[in-house]
This record gives sequence, C-alpha cells and structure tokens, in this order.
Amino acid sequence: MNIAFVAHDSKKKLMQNLCIAYRGILTRHSLYATGTTGRLIEEATGLNVHKFLAGHIGGEEQLGAMVEQNEVDLVIFFRDPLNSRPNEPDINKAIRLCDIHNVPLATNIASAELLLKSLERGDLEWREMYR
Ligand code: PGA
Repeated sequence: MNIAFVAHDSKKKLMQNLCIAYRGILTRHSLYATGTTGRLIEEATGLNVHKFLAGHIGGEEQLGAMVEQNEVDLVIFFRDPLNSRPNEPDINKAIRLCDIHNVPLATNIASAELLLKSLERGDLEWREMYR
C-alpha cells in the first residue's frame, strides 16, 4: 500500500516517534512524504521514503495530486492545529481530496495508531480493489 506522511514543524518529532514505533509495519509498504518530513522519517527509521517537495513550496499540492489520482491508500497528516499557515488552501485541498476518494486519513496520533494497526490486520485491503 502507498502511505503518505506530512507533519508540520510542531509535530515532526511526534511523526518520527510514530514511525519508529511502527517501523515493522511500515517497512512492508511504499512510503511518501513532504520533503522535510520524509527526510526526518528516513533518518529516524532507516526506511526509504519517496520525498515530495517541502510542504510550503508545493509538497502538499503534490500529495493532493497523488490522492486525486487515487494513488494513496492511507494519509497521516499531523498539521499544526494551533497556527494557520500561508498554504492553508493546499492543506485543506489535500484533506478534502481524501474525503472525495475515501482515503483513510489520520490527523492525530490516536487515529494514526488505529489506522496503522488496521493496516497490519489487513482491514484496508479493500483499497486494492477500490483502486
Ligand atoms: P515538510 O512539509 O515536511 O517539507 O516540512 C510540511 C510542512 O509544510 O511543514
């Protein structure tokens, strides 16, 4: 499955820790991330991540385009809930596209862990058919 990650700055450490904790599951999938998030995941886990541009210069748009093509099976998007960002429209668009295409989306650690455990159990295999 194709899993995409984005973490805004205040959430990057949390994303690294999530990926360390679930490395055993993630290693069996194709990973995508905005530039800095991807680099930090690679550094923390040694996993290979396909990196988009940095989020603020188009990475979130690239993620949106991939979701639009229905090429992403699971998105973990830890946005900063307390501060708005200049590229808020791209962020909202990526999230809206997940809703259009029924892509499972986690925006916090609690739901991210549930989705990764579901992935491990095979609960997301319907995505293969949906694609
Ligand atoms: P980044 O993008 O992973 O390149 O930092 C996310 C963000 O805009 O913070």
